[in-house]
Amino acid sequence: MTVHSGKHVTTTQETQAARQGAAEDNPLIAFQELLKEAADLLRYPGPVYELLKDPIRFLEVKIPVRMDNGTTQIFTGYRSQHNDAVGPTKGGIRFHPEVTPDEVKALSGWMSLKCGITDLPYGGGKGGVVCDPRSMSFGELERLSRGYVRAISQLVGPSKDIPAPDVFTNAQIMAWMADEYDHIRENDSPSFITGKPIILGGSLGRETATSKGVLYTLKLTSEQIGLQLRGARVIIQGFGNVGSHLAQMLHEEGAKVIGISDVFGAVYDERGLDIPDLMERRDSFGAVTHLFRETITNKELLEKECDVLVPAALGGQITEANADRIRCRVIVEAANGPTTREATKRLAERGILVVPDILANSGGVIVSYFEWVQNNQGLYWPEEEVDGKLKEKIEKSFRKVYQTSQQYGIDMRTAAYVAGVRKLAEASIARGWVP
Ligand code: GLU
Repeated sequence: MTVHSGKHVTTTQETQAARQGAAEDNPLIAFQELLKEAADLLRYPGPVYELLKDPIRFLEVKIPVRMDNGTTQIFTGYRSQHNDAVGPTKGGIRFHPEVTPDEVKALSGWMSLKCGITDLPYGGGKGGVVCDPRSMSFGELERLSRGYVRAISQLVGPSKDIPAPDVFTNAQIMAWMADEYDHIRENDSPSFITGKPIILGGSLGRETATSKGVLYTLKLTSEQIGLQLRGARVIIQGFGNVGSHLAQMLHEEGAKVIGISDVFGAVYDERGLDIPDLMERRDSFGAVTHLFRETITNKELLEKECDVLVPAALGGQITEANADRIRCRVIVEAANGPTTREATKRLAERGILVVPDILANSGGVIVSYFEWVQNNQGLYWPEEEVDGKLKEKIEKSFRKVYQTSQQYGIDMRTAAYVAGVRKLAEASIARGWVP
């Protein structure tokens, strides 16, 4: 068979190779391929996969923002709602110069699976704005945040789609967004958005929730593989909200954090880094390595020998190109989509266990759910209660994924897809959307 595209004629083989190459870089293709595998394993009829492979709703918006220098800049934003058969969609908003529609779509699919694994009454959603918040003033960021909410306001709401923080967005941005939504909807419920400051109805423990979830997952994994966390050598890529708090927690647990990185580079010391000092010196975007004279690159850091490697920055970091040079026992994915499919296979061949993102980093959305529940009830829980409930959910989710991997003889990532897709598929079937 040949495929005609413009003047070029490509053979099936070439097309497959191109698709494989594209799948390496394109998170949506990676999401779809694994989703298909999970749907086939569960013997769902074809329409289930057809329904779930793309979001049911996807919005692209333009956001004009008055900049401090008097000019107007037009930003592009997206909101993807993957599936709302289970309940309202839920997921963060990322501000990043490299945000693409396919990335946001894949991220919303992963949110659906996360909510399925952790048994939250949500489907997945995700938003993104193409911008570089590091080069914007506070005023510009506030106007952009408010503009984004105005642009998507018809589509979101406490019982429709509930946003939250993600890469380069934080509680302050959630506060501006909540306030803008209140203006539009005349004081609707604070449960429109989660990850808010405590004073505006945020939950205790939300800021550290993702890191805590990663820590609990790592502890459970360590028990399975007989790894002693005390004294274990850990490398963390990324020192933002997730990476920095995780480094602090691991440091307190007696693990030896030997490397961390930010957007500029990485610091590495095989004797262990002074994490409390780094925490003090990091800026609000997690940058700290520029203060050091001796640094290595992010790429070099990933290839240093350690026991536990935690990618906690962006997607697509461990690929076919570096998978064979990764030297650790276990990778715990705190970021979304840090390891490509091909890399996952290579790592498995080399006996390196990968604990997948949709399980490992689900602590964030779990506590977002708790925030939403507290907002809806108008009743607020002490931090110990939030933590206890988070731990319980993570343990249950871990067992579910681990048992699924044993039952089907599949890796943890495929098992997480199988465990995650069940609720989505069954709710879609129960509603009569698919046979
Ligand atoms: N952005 C986080 C994630 O990727 C949290 C989402 C949420 O709290 O809704 O899981």
